Amino acid sequence: MLQDKKMKCPRCNSTKIRKNGRRQTKQCFQCRVCGRQLVESPKFQPYSEEIEQLCFKMYLNGMGLRGIERVTLTLLLIWGKN
Ligand SMILES: [Zn+2]
Repeated sequence: MLQDKKMKCPRCNSTKIRKNGRRQTKQCFQCRVCGRQLVESPKFQPYSEEIEQLCFKMYLNGMGLRGIERVTLTLLLIWGKN
């Protein structure tokens, strides 16, 4: 597994991620450039937090659940390719 090499900071796009201990069963990481904390997630890697916030914003803006789902899937595809 080349998981460490694939990790990317969602804030500054740096790949200089170091391990930062464990939280329950999840491996924690920290960006060495901007200090952003990342938590390993089997589903969404480090992006789940951003997506959650984004969904909440879209929900507040009155977007329907179907629309939110579509945008989220699109973003996941885009981010997954980076
Ligand atoms: Zn960073």
